[in-house]
Amino acid sequence: SIPTPPIGRFAPSPTGELHLGSLTTALASYCHIKSLGGKWLLRIEDTDTERCDRQFTEQILIDLEVLGLHWDGDVVYQSERIDIYNEYLASTLRPLTYGCQCSRKDLEQYWAQQAQIPAHTDTATQLTVLPNRKRYPRRCVTKALHRLQHKLRIQLPDYLIGFHDGIQGQQWGNPQQTLGDMVVRRQDGMINYILAASLDDGLQGVTHIMRGLDILPMTTAQISIMQAARLPAIDRWYHLPLICSPNGQKLSKQNLAQPIDTRDPSQLIATALQLLQQPSVEIDTPARMLKQATAQWDNAPLHGQQQLSLINK
Ligand code: GLU
Repeated sequence: SIPTPPIGRFAPSPTGELHLGSLTTALASYCHIKSLGGKWLLRIEDTDTERCDRQFTEQILIDLEVLGLHWDGDVVYQSERIDIYNEYLASTLRPLTYGCQCSRKDLEQYWAQQAQIPAHTDTATQLTVLPNRKRYPRRCVTKALHRLQHKLRIQLPDYLIGFHDGIQGQQWGNPQQTLGDMVVRRQDGMINYILAASLDDGLQGVTHIMRGLDILPMTTAQISIMQAARLPAIDRWYHLPLICSPNGQKLSKQNLAQPIDTRDPSQLIATALQLLQQPSVEIDTPARMLKQATAQWDNAPLHGQQQLSLINK
């Protein structure tokens, strides 16, 4: 058979403009997959209609173009793929999913009570119930509630799943302990982003995922969802250290990391490469800088690192 090229992707949620953290993820995943002779896909994760904005999407596309980060193929918009996710929920994933009528308030009350109780085995489910963990207690699992009139939850496995991370090393996680039976579709139809990302990574044939360390706790859930959906597994995982401001704070939209200023795209690329501890690249056009950065790309300086910042360089 013909060996298929590696496929990577950048999957921003357009809840704001690109900031230095998301730009660094884009650049790293681009250079890495291109250094392997692969394709770099762009997927806009815009299922959350309350937080995402078309204007942010447009700005992200413009910024990537200006930076010379050209994606392969068409941009995939998750907001246009809701039918596909619902099809999976109604077929392959149906046996694992169930309607749930518990309100947020009910659950908060339950968790507040549970916090008082020591760890024990639940007689109904035979699951170990840990105190202080906000996991869904599976109250609705046997109720067979109407699937379209309620939110849908997925039963995630309660065992350790391991995977090798090309930056962080061997990882283990128990999806049930980490996320519980998470909501995959809200009552208003909104699809959970881990579900959408898991299905799309499989459907788009993604082989290499390089993304921020903040998503690593979700990875074993993604692995189990992809398996349940009978989608091909991801070959290689890489979770990048998070970019911190010099005072050690993670840059994110929450703490209002400044949007990148693309008036000087070459300087931005140089800064991001420096953050990523890559060999330096001469200031030139973005295209020529990316070509050189790709040619000398090396994950090794990132191994085991959880945070990166520009100080002490
Ligand atoms: N959409 C996610 C974000 O913007 C990234 C998800 C992923 O890379 O798997 O943080």
